[in-house]
Amino acid sequence: MTLSPYVSTAYLSPPPQDELVELPPRRARRAGRTNVLVVGGGPAGIGAALGAAATGVRVTLVERYGFLGGNATAALVMPLTSFHNEIKQAVGGDDTRLLPTDHGEGEPVVGGVLWTMLDRLHQMGGVIKPSPDTGYTVPFDPELFKLTAYELLAEAGVHMLLHSFASDVIDLPDGARVVFEGKSGPIVIDADVVVDCTGDGDLAAAAGAPYEIGRPEDGLTQPMTLMFRMGRFNHEGFNGYVREHPDQWRGVYGLWDLIREATEAGELDLTREDLLFFATPYDDEVAVNSTRVTGVLGTSVFDLTRAELVAHEQMAQIARFLRRRVPGFEQSYAIQSGVQVGVRETRRIQGEYTLTGDDVLTARKFDDVIARGAYPVDIHNPTGRGTVLKRLPQGASYDIPLRCLLPRGTDRLLVAGRAISGDHVAHSSYRVMPISMATGQAAGVTAALASRDGKPPRDLSVETVQRELRNQRASLA
Ligand SMILES: Cc1cc2nc3c(=O)[nH]c(=O)nc-3n(C[C@H](O)[C@H](O)[C@H](O)COP(=O)(O)OP(=O)(O)OC[C@H]3O[C@@H](n4cnc5c(N)ncnc54)[C@H](O)[C@@H]3O)c2cc1C
Repeated sequence: MTLSPYVSTAYLSPPPQDELVELPPRRARRAGRTNVLVVGGGPAGIGAALGAAATGVRVTLVERYGFLGGNATAALVMPLTSFHNEIKQAVGGDDTRLLPTDHGEGEPVVGGVLWTMLDRLHQMGGVIKPSPDTGYTVPFDPELFKLTAYELLAEAGVHMLLHSFASDVIDLPDGARVVFEGKSGPIVIDADVVVDCTGDGDLAAAAGAPYEIGRPEDGLTQPMTLMFRMGRFNHEGFNGYVREHPDQWRGVYGLWDLIREATEAGELDLTREDLLFFATPYDDEVAVNSTRVTGVLGTSVFDLTRAELVAHEQMAQIARFLRRRVPGFEQSYAIQSGVQVGVRETRRIQGEYTLTGDDVLTARKFDDVIARGAYPVDIHNPTGRGTVLKRLPQGASYDIPLRCLLPRGTDRLLVAGRAISGDHVAHSSYRVMPISMATGQAAGVTAALASRDGKPPRDLSVETVQRELRNQRASLA
């Protein structure tokens, strides 16, 4: 099936790199000073703001959208991946539960604000907590995720500003000034320390920190995916199909034969060979992670525009396919897609240390550990079909050193979440939401202690940071 004509033509082409114009100087309103300024309200930003606020300093959190959650809510990325190691070999599970069946029993390697958030979400009825029955993944309700974040941040005394896009950062003798664009015109906020939780390292890059993008051989990044929710799903009907065709579904992915038939009939033209979808807290709804747009970069608005159009066309195809051909989906419909296409990978800001794929896969330990991960290397093919999944050794987890959060060439800025310092392979593991929240908490704590002591973050002793993180129940060993 070819794309509708509007999809292939209706976007502005990227201009030549040298087509530049000067802008006149302008004035901005100064919206005050804070000890710690967290920019970006995704998993890392929520972790950073809560971690910093718990030390008692003044914290401001600024987000470009009108709500918090980052990929968890804006891109409808569900569920949270497992943050448990695997102590025992997986014994397989019920393929009809729409959750991974290949995760053996294990222990959590992330603690701290992630659990605070899960406990509160649980009280609200918005999460299924991780257990062997969920394959240790965590289905959640994105609307209740937003509410939980607001409640916890408000209780912690964090000041929030929404609808404000950070466009620049300027050095101050004793801190940094961040410029925000929005309906009120340009605004600046001054801070002792800034934590860049934009996922793209927007501020670290603006501050002149070096960064890398994509694979070493060709610079290509992991593909983008527009996620969407299918409602009025009949789980029992789908179970019947899985029981009759046990070779066609592996917990959360499959349908190879039906996809082949639909492709041959001209109904589907996808970059994936299978469909991937997950249970949500609601039995009549699934979260579909199956569109795939390659050759696009999340820091280019031209690429993002093309990706949105192509991904929406793919979503329409998949929703039609599910309704027409897949038992259990006969009455289903696409309730909602992400506010934006999901971006897996952009800049990796180069820090004092670059975590490598080898560090992840050999479960390397570091004296300056501030967070841990156990999620596998998980690379969706940047050029087309297939996904590479490589697991850590049994029972193992890897350490993330504080140095990965300290961008080179900047003094008053930390980075957290998926933009921290690592190579393409390591990134594919630490990018997931539980680990992003953990690096966020660590960056927030480091920023707060640096502000309290009147020092740049890299002059703090790591033991001080680790002590505070342990007080906050972060898991470091
Ligand atoms: C399709 C897809 C599927 C995935 N599947 C899973 C999964 O199943 N489970 C899992 O745990 N992880 C998954 N991930 C990974 C995970 O969603 C992200 O890597 C994670 O959300 C990163 O967290 P973050 O806080 O660093 O960035 P983000 O979640 O991207 O949050 C960044 C925040 O900063 C804001 N922002 C960005 N730029 C600016 C700016 N200049 N000024 C102000 N605000 C700004 C954004 O609006 C956003 O709120 C998936 C990712 C994608 C794209």
